[in-house]
Amino acid sequence: MPELPEVETLRRALLPIVKNKACSEVILFRKALRFPIPRESLVKGLINHKVADITRKGKYLLFQTTEGSMLLHLGMSGRIVLQQTFEPREKHTHVIFKFSTKTYLHYIDPRRFGSISWVPKSGRHPLIDNLGYDPFSLDMTAKTMKVLARKSRAPIKSFIMNSQKVTGVGNIYACESLFHAGIRPTKQAGKITLLQWEKWIECVQDVLNKSIASGGTTLRDFFNPNGSQGYYSVSLSVYSKEGQPCPKCSHPISRLFQTGRSTYFCKYCQPL
Ligand SMILES: [Zn+2]
Repeated sequence: MPELPEVETLRRALLPIVKNKACSEVILFRKALRFPIPRESLVKGLINHKVADITRKGKYLLFQTTEGSMLLHLGMSGRIVLQQTFEPREKHTHVIFKFSTKTYLHYIDPRRFGSISWVPKSGRHPLIDNLGYDPFSLDMTAKTMKVLARKSRAPIKSFIMNSQKVTGVGNIYACESLFHAGIRPTKQAGKITLLQWEKWIECVQDVLNKSIASGGTTLRDFFNPNGSQGYYSVSLSVYSKEGQPCPKCSHPISRLFQTGRSTYFCKYCQPL
């Protein structure tokens, strides 16, 4: 499943290709992905309007024009591939955007959990209106997180995976960042100290950045029509390592279930 690092890498790869260029044609091979694709709004807002920027909020990409933004999500299995033709090269190619004679972006998604929507000029859209902080947003500070979590009795791990609080932190990144920050995943979010929030923000950005950096080869694959966009490997300290020695203290890694997902942590390095 594409996680935040893959989406950020895709954003960086797409930006020089489409920035200040206008999409001249769009072909839809189906009417809906996870949600209906608003063909009319897409055509009106995208065609012949230059893309001023691509921004990211969590795992959503926003292609901004003067008319609003195309909102794109890769779902569970989505990819965007650069091609030189309208001819679909792969099964499950659902939408093709033409930017110039040799620049066609193919949206491919076998499981169709992704989405392509249109955000009007107001910037409001139900899919993004209630999203929490992006981990790289300057607004996400120890202070804002402390205030946000003030009355929360939810375990910290559930809190940082709640997309209305923080957006784009999946299970692996949640486990790894809490381990590096030395915070027990079951600790109540409301009891996390300012210092711990500071440490966690630093750690989650570090884990995400390392994963983005590991995706260097994937960026190259993106420009290769036959290349496959693999998902990134994260250097794992605790995730999926139950019973193995903790890289910091050598005690065995523990595992528990939180809201149906596995949580991995070290009892000694992440004290209660
Ligand atoms: Zn340990």
